[in-house]
Amino acid sequence: GQQLMAGKRGLVMGVANNRSIAWGITKACADAGAELALTYQGEAMEKRVRPLAEEVGAKLVMPCDVTDSASLDAAFATLREQWGQLDFVVHAIAFSDKSELDGRYVDTSEENFKQTLLVSCYSLTAVAQRAEKLMTDGGSILTLTYYGAEKVMPHYNVMGVAKAALEASVKYLAADLGKEGIRVNAISAGPIKTLAASGIGDFRYILKWNEYNAPLRRTVTIEDVGYSAVYLLSDWGRSVTGEVHHVDCGYHVVGMKAEDAPDI
Ligand code: NAD
Repeated sequence: GQQLMAGKRGLVMGVANNRSIAWGITKACADAGAELALTYQGEAMEKRVRPLAEEVGAKLVMPCDVTDSASLDAAFATLREQWGQLDFVVHAIAFSDKSELDGRYVDTSEENFKQTLLVSCYSLTAVAQRAEKLMTDGGSILTLTYYGAEKVMPHYNVMGVAKAALEASVKYLAADLGKEGIRVNAISAGPIKTLAASGIGDFRYILKWNEYNAPLRRTVTIEDVGYSAVYLLSDWGRSVTGEVHHVDCGYHVVGMKAEDAPDI
């Protein structure tokens, strides 16, 4: 299985730094032999992302802000020019105003609700619209979600609502694109300390809680998510679509605090 993704070309969106989940997925895909293109959100991210791209031999490194349709069009136009065809896309993008990832969900503002849903949910559909045209030989689209879509998690608030809509989008997109051999799935990752996660109130408590209560008694790494992503992105996942796959050390099956969990 070493070269499971040899001959496959994929776009990874959402690398901010070497702690990003998108980076764990990028490394695992590169190890499996895939050729990669990366997008970064804006100039501020470029100087971090370029050296990472070099590490995995990715020659295509492009800016792309998903709230700007012209910037999305430009990134996919470059892919069409350079590659002509695309096998997979990783969508590892989310945003909400930090001040609303704290306190109560009921206090969410209309403006931040719209922005959160646009960046964290609609963008997957915007990406799928453009990827579809290049996936002439079938393909695999993968996004990242969190348990806060299914159950109320403290401080996750409007992001939980956005992730619930994202998970529903995965199913609708899978139904639309299946006829073309394009699969659409999500990984529901356990908590990982990343830039985005640092915006969530009391994140350290969530990490500890997961470590003490998940069946595997640890939290996941970006490498763990990367290996599971290779399964969904490669032909080994060829009959899997519309799925939300938990990569969370089993946390989602637990109904109660573990008896051996220390107080935190
Ligand atoms: P991260 O900060 O490394 O990545 C988030 C990325 O989103 C960044 O690269 C950022 O540039 C990008 N982004 C934000 N707004 C954008 C925009 N307008 N246009 C383009 N890109 C934009 O953090 P991460 O934790 O690796 O997040 C990746 C995904 O994983 C997110 O969807 C997140 O919700 C999800 N996730 C994270 C965790 C966790 O605990 N860290 C758990 C489950 C799911």
